[in-house]
Amino acid sequence: MKVIEPATEKVLAEVPEASVEDADRAVARARAAFPSWRAVTPHDRGALLRRFAIAVADSAEKLAQLEARNVGKPISDARGEVGMVVDVFNYYAGAPERLLGNTIPVAGGVDMTFREPLGVVGLIVPWNFPIAITSWKLGPALAAGNTIVLKPAALTPLTALELERLALEAGIPEGVFNVVVGAGRTVGERLVQHPDVAKIAFTGSTDVGKRIGALAAQGIKRVTLELGGKSANIVFADADIEKAAASAPGAVFGNAGQDCCARSRILVERSAVDRFMQALEKAIKSLRVGDPLDDKTEMGPLISADQRAKVATYVEDGAKVAIRGSAPAGPGFWFPPTVLSPVAPGDRAAREEIFGPIAAVIPFDDEADAIRIANDSIYGLSGSVWTSNAGRAMRVARALETGTISINSNTSVRVTTPFGGFKQSGIGRELGPNALEHYTELKNVFLSTS
Ligand code: NAD
Repeated sequence: MKVIEPATEKVLAEVPEASVEDADRAVARARAAFPSWRAVTPHDRGALLRRFAIAVADSAEKLAQLEARNVGKPISDARGEVGMVVDVFNYYAGAPERLLGNTIPVAGGVDMTFREPLGVVGLIVPWNFPIAITSWKLGPALAAGNTIVLKPAALTPLTALELERLALEAGIPEGVFNVVVGAGRTVGERLVQHPDVAKIAFTGSTDVGKRIGALAAQGIKRVTLELGGKSANIVFADADIEKAAASAPGAVFGNAGQDCCARSRILVERSAVDRFMQALEKAIKSLRVGDPLDDKTEMGPLISADQRAKVATYVEDGAKVAIRGSAPAGPGFWFPPTVLSPVAPGDRAAREEIFGPIAAVIPFDDEADAIRIANDSIYGLSGSVWTSNAGRAMRVARALETGTISINSNTSVRVTTPFGGFKQSGIGRELGPNALEHYTELKNVFLSTS
């Protein structure tokens, strides 16, 4: 398979495409490695994860360059994401010795619970944050004693292959972490249907998530799904409007809008719309769009020509383009940062996940109106509330049907806190302590004392 560099449209690498038989071989290797991997002492499993973190840190610049070129994302973002991988492995390195159970008072004996590994876990990840999202699954899955088969997105396999090499270099035994590069419909579906794969941890689109859920149900396979989003960035008139507007472009145009947490619906209280739009325009005009390998770049190209064509449909016929930033002419799959305003809550641009640099500004009248519009979505992944009123901030945060909310901030993901979606944005949580539950089974043991 040819791997294309989105900023130049040139071939960046060629990788062998795995077949269904290759996927089966990877599962067999992972299954064979499971008994000895789960038997590694918690202390030593943690130590291996720490060594894995060090190996990634030692290769950080190489990984960041690969990721920036393969995805087309700004190098400064790629460096941050590789840094996060190091943090994730270090965080979960502490987990094997903290997988605690309970003792439960019962008659006639002692009752205790254990967190057992599942076995072979299949990881299926998308192309927008390849190495970061892989680590969110790989860290807790390895810490809990599972063995892994990872299928990266066919467009972005390069850092996954490097990670596989670094795991071996760090001393993680052969067969514990295996990568197969191939298509979703063949290799991906084989992992989902393989009887020796105990669980699938998937990040990707809601449509593919539905299919994976349905296929996995045939074998009562454990599944966690991190899916699409259409997050609301709610700006009240009593907020620091300039700060909210200065932060908004990063929250929707980061990764060229190809971010499940993209706050692509900007809900602004009607009386503040003009002030907000002026400040937003200023921020967008100064956004640096261009060469991903330039340290100062803030937005790169889209991942592919197909993605660009899909995104472009949202600015056809009659779309109310209020602000348009700049983008290089090409080659490369460029698309300028674009703001549509005013957008009605029922418009296509307000309802569908665009996955490109297009934001929809939707005016609202009061707090109840903002909550109603924000919750009127099949998705519920992320979101923000901007206000100087602490009571309102908490009322709105609690009323929103979404997994992660930031108040007076647009951040979504932290290594130590849970991340995941309400409604059709997914099932399960990644990162933080809760992720470990999804890579273990709870076992109950009763010991008779009679
Ligand atoms: P996608 O669903 O097309 O592909 C994701 C992965 O699934 C890829 O590895 C792909 O090869 C594989 N796949 C495709 N069809 C499959 C099938 N039938 N069976 C098994 N595997 C299959 O998604 P994408 O276009 O790579 O990524 C974009 C989507 O991912 C967006 O919708 C975005 O919101 C979502 N996303 C969600 C999160 C989150 O944490 N919630 C994070 C990043 C991206």
